[in-house]
Parts: sequence; structure tokens; C-alpha cells
Amino acid sequence: MARVVIVGGAVVGLGLGMMLARDGHDVVQLERDPQPPPDTVEKVVAELAEATPGLAVRRGVAVTGLVTGPPAIPGVPHVTGVRTDLGAPIGADVVVDASGRRSALPSWLAAAGGRPPEEDVEDSGFVYYGRHHHSDDGSLPVPLGGALQNCGSVSSLTLGADNGHWAVIVVARADDGAPTVCDRGGGPR
Ligand SMILES: Cc1cc2nc3c(=O)[nH]c(=O)nc-3n(C[C@H](O)[C@H](O)[C@H](O)COP(=O)(O)OP(=O)(O)OC[C@H]3O[C@@H](n4cnc5c(N)ncnc54)[C@H](O)[C@@H]3O)c2cc1C
Repeated sequence: MARVVIVGGAVVGLGLGMMLARDGHDVVQLERDPQPPPDTVEKVVAELAEATPGLAVRRGVAVTGLVTGPPAIPGVPHVTGVRTDLGAPIGADVVVDASGRRSALPSWLAAAGGRPPEEDVEDSGFVYYGRHHHSDDGSLPVPLGGALQNCGSVSSLTLGADNGHWAVIVVARADDGAPTVCDRGGGPR
């Protein structure tokens, strides 16, 4: 049984925390956001995680760096825990980074004398622009068409959620030039 610290308590981190705890590991999950998750799928996952024996989810705790001990392999940092904004370090046999795509892990490893992690990045050929909206009264706008609208190489996706929230996402080819005008038979809109 290992003592595991997971950095980040969103969907991926919570899922991993539950799996490791159910395998018998002693898991501490550190999530910097002090707020409980909103009433979405994430809340359901978070409630399952809270009820999982062996998994302690601590919200409002931000990891600020790694703690290292004497290296077992010369030149390779031996991570023995994490530092947090609460002050006292938290020891661990294993530290897992689930802090999302803006992870600070590369800089923490560099500060500990390690090499940067290898990263696989693939260009999808598309670019996304997204904005989230909400209404004051909890209502959603009346749909004027399907959720997905295609216009040449540009598509828009309108996704309703709960509590008066919705998202509008515009997807375009990354190599598109000047913007095009969508003509759906009735002229420019
Ligand atoms: C507009 C949009 C639409 C998307 N649509 C889809 C979709 O339709 N389907 C799909 O599968 N995916 C979709 N995704 C992607 C999906 O949201 C992400 O892949 C997913 O949320 C990643 O989860 P995660 O747990 O890895 O990271 P995140 O959700 O980024 O969570 C990371 C967590 O780590 C915490 N954290 C960060 N740093 C620290 C720290 N130092 N200490 C402690 N905690 C820390 C953060 O507070 C956060 O809670 C979409 C993303 C966007 C932006």
C-alpha cells in the first residue's frame, strides 16, 4: 500500500483517486478550489469520491511545489511529497499530477533539478473559441436551430446546461484565412 498525493481534484483526479483508494492505497487529493463542485456531472463524481474509504479530498489546498529527498539514482530527483500554500509539506510515496493542461509540474520538476516531462502534442487542425453564459433567472435561451450549426469550414455548437448556464463554441479550421460570410439562402446574417 502506498501513500499517494494527487494534485487536482476535478474529474480526472477524482476518478483516479477512487481507483487507487479502492486498490487499497492511502490517497490524499488536493484541490486548490475551495468551492464544492457545481451541480453538474462533476458534483456526482465528487460525492462518490467523498464516500470512498481511503480517499481524503481536501479542497482549498493549492500545491506550490515538490518536496525531494536523497536521490536513489544520481541526477534524478526523488520526490517525497508536495509543498502547499498551507505551509506544512505533505509526504507521499507517489505524487500524481492531475492539475489539468496548465499544470505547473514542468516548472516544479525543473526547480527540483529534473528534466522536463516528455509531452505529446498533436495539432487537430481545428481551433475552438468558447464562451460560457448564464441568465439571472435560471432560464435558457429559446433555440433557433439545432445545437450544431455548420457553415462551410466553421461550425457553432450551443450546449445548454443546468441552473441557467449554457456555452457557445465556435469551431473553425486552424488554417482558415479571412472570415467567411454564412449564406443560408437568405443572404448574410
Ligand atoms: C469549452 C470546452 C469544452 C469541452 N468539451 C468537452 C467535451 O465535450 N467532451 C470532453 O470529453 N471534454 C471536453 N472538454 C475537455 C474537458 O473539459 C477536459 O479534458 C477535462 O476537464 C480535463 O479534466 P482534468 O481533471 O484533467 O483537468 P481540469 O478539469 O483542468 O482540472 C484540474 C484541477 O486541478 C486543480 N489544480 C490546478 N492546479 C492545482 C494546484 N497547484 N494545486 C491544487 N489543485 C490544482 C484545478 O483547480 C482543477 O480543479 C472541453 C473543454 C473545454 C474548455
